[in-house]
Amino acid sequence: MKKESQESSLKCEREPYLLTPGPLTTDVSVRSAMMRDWGSWDVGFQRLTKHIRSSVLKILGSSEKNYECIPMQGSGSFAVESMLGTFAPSNNKTLILANGAYGLRAARTMDYMKRPYRLLDKGDYLPPSAEEVESILKSDGTISHVFLVHCETSSGILNPLKEVATVTSELGRHLLIDSMSAFGALEIDPIEVDFDVLVSSANKCIEGVPGFSFAIAKKESLLASKGNSHSLCLDLYDQWEYMEKTGQWRFTPPTHVVAAFNEALKLHFSQGGSAGRLQRYTQNKNILVSGMRNLGFETLLSDPWLSPIIVTFFYPSDKAFKFPFFYDLMKEKGFVIYPGKLTVADSFRIGCIGSFSSDVMEKAVKAVAESLNQMGVKSARPAETALQEKNKLQ
Ligand SMILES: *Cc1c(COP(=O)(O)O)cnc(C)c1O
Repeated sequence: MKKESQESSLKCEREPYLLTPGPLTTDVSVRSAMMRDWGSWDVGFQRLTKHIRSSVLKILGSSEKNYECIPMQGSGSFAVESMLGTFAPSNNKTLILANGAYGLRAARTMDYMKRPYRLLDKGDYLPPSAEEVESILKSDGTISHVFLVHCETSSGILNPLKEVATVTSELGRHLLIDSMSAFGALEIDPIEVDFDVLVSSANKCIEGVPGFSFAIAKKESLLASKGNSHSLCLDLYDQWEYMEKTGQWRFTPPTHVVAAFNEALKLHFSQGGSAGRLQRYTQNKNILVSGMRNLGFETLLSDPWLSPIIVTFFYPSDKAFKFPFFYDLMKEKGFVIYPGKLTVADSFRIGCIGSFSSDVMEKAVKAVAESLNQMGVKSARPAETALQEKNKLQ
């Protein structure tokens, strides 16, 4: 039995690194934790659930006591929908701040739920500013909640969470955060960022495998949310109340994924928590960005807006560059990259998160150089129009 699992983990080691923002590359110990079956009602599994809930709250720091962690089955979007469904009111508006695919998805979710909202759409990547949020909130008293994406993974931009949180709180409104790709690496201290609810998932900066997500909700807001959800399955209040009462998830939990997440949390703590992660991801990002710039590539965002989570690069203007070919060449060399999501210019993305360090990122940059050679791309410099786009945000 032991031998078998060692062999299979060795095989996994040779699989390509996922330079994608989740699912991402996980540690062998995380994957190995899935090699056992759990009964969902079993007291051992209940203990596991209790433990991951309290461990997630510890990541918040000293304010953990004011918050509750509620795991929810499904990918991150299920958590976003459960947050909006459980907390966004039907009789007041929610201000949805969008600068990319995930902000727009939240607006679409509100459409499905027929909840009133106002959308501030900044396009592909430009960040919503605290001043804009302030003037909207001051001019519209029917807005009670604000939704912000922490790191908008579609461009990689780090949105001004603290500034938006400050005006939202000063004007007496409630903040809902999609911190999917940031929580666990970028610190969120409720003393500085007053929020009602944030959501994240197992397969991003905690470096677990995909299968569930979780909300962190201020206890008083959670208690007040009873009966607000449009959906039985996605009702965070109901999930929380049942878990408190019975120690169990309401419906079949992804038991193996929870066991893997528990292992991932252990690593998170032993590797220095969010600060340790931020340091490693920042090193990955620095190696990536300087290496790619040396090859002639340009990032969509200027330095102050770059996140250590994922970086968007413009396509080279060289006609020999073909993304599908580039993707295959990179994969052959052991690296899975990510297509871009911009409407304004062709781009691709490379993720900095996952269980690997800067030595792997150095190899990835070498693989990019080799792949360009193989395609016959002479310069990775993007088109002038792309560079003009970049100048909009300095
Ligand atoms: C990953 C992610 C989500 C959730 O996406 P799923 O595909 O449902 O897991 C939501 N918001 C952001 C910012 C993300 O990075």
